[in-house]
Amino acid sequence: MRTPQVEPRTGMPAQVTVYEVGPRDGLQNEQSTVPVEVKAEFVRRLLAAGLETVELTSFVPQRWVPQLGDAEELLALLGPAGQGQQRPVLVPNERGLDRALATGVTAVAVFGSATESFARRNLNRSVEDSLAMFGPVVQRALDAGAWVRGYVSMCFGDPWEGPVPVEQVVTVCSRLMDMGCDQLSLGDTIGVGTPGHVERLLDALEDAGIGPDQIGVHFHDTYGQALSNTMTALHRGVTVVDASAGGLGGCPYARSATGNLATEDLVWALQGMGVRHGVDLEALVTASSWMAEQLGRPSPSRVVRALAGSAE
Ligand code: MG
Repeated sequence: MRTPQVEPRTGMPAQVTVYEVGPRDGLQNEQSTVPVEVKAEFVRRLLAAGLETVELTSFVPQRWVPQLGDAEELLALLGPAGQGQQRPVLVPNERGLDRALATGVTAVAVFGSATESFARRNLNRSVEDSLAMFGPVVQRALDAGAWVRGYVSMCFGDPWEGPVPVEQVVTVCSRLMDMGCDQLSLGDTIGVGTPGHVERLLDALEDAGIGPDQIGVHFHDTYGQALSNTMTALHRGVTVVDASAGGLGGCPYARSATGNLATEDLVWALQGMGVRHGVDLEALVTASSWMAEQLGRPSPSRVVRALAGSAE
């Protein structure tokens, strides 16, 4: 299989953690519900391809996201995490946390919003009320010894509100870090961000005491900016990047089939720059192609399309 010529780029981190979100963020946005056995096989293939951090599912009430209504069953099928593996799950509230902890989960994520409109639509609460809901979730998760991530959606624009002030994003991020989150994930949920905007937000966060070592970035490719924005963040010292195998998962709020940054596209770029990532690209492309077959449509990832079926 073809691989990129390796030419190191100055100013890049030596190593990047690929935070795989396909099984959760990807499949959550699918029209149809994927059988739990297929999900489990997808996760196994991703882990076997060398992805050490794979977000598995979400412990939300089934009526919120029917596609992920099988969280307990999926965890049971997968069994305990292997050595060195991190397998976070989303938890919206204390009930979700209880369910997650009961399955033996050791990493969880709460999901906040930088904007009122999205907080209302996603959690049926104001930003303030959703933060109040997360407080005890984060505390109890930490008390139980779990690692906690705080997602922040709509950091670069909101489909209902338009531009989102950087200061507003920083405020929500600071609140989540003050609760004790181990890591933030900055989400460009509708994919409208551009590199200067990324730098401005990272600078503002650093001014607020939140350094790039506490940040993951979560870009969407709706406007073709995901990889460019990711490279900008890496150049600023971020070393955790969210990506979805095969580019699974359009955003229902962006009216576009293009959603998450494809893990293959990220891995290709990292490999070319000589940045360590630990992923076997060929095995990953095979896993994504297999999943695309299960879903009955081709992967939107450029790298999967270029490499799948090629004998080179
Ligand atoms: Mg996403």
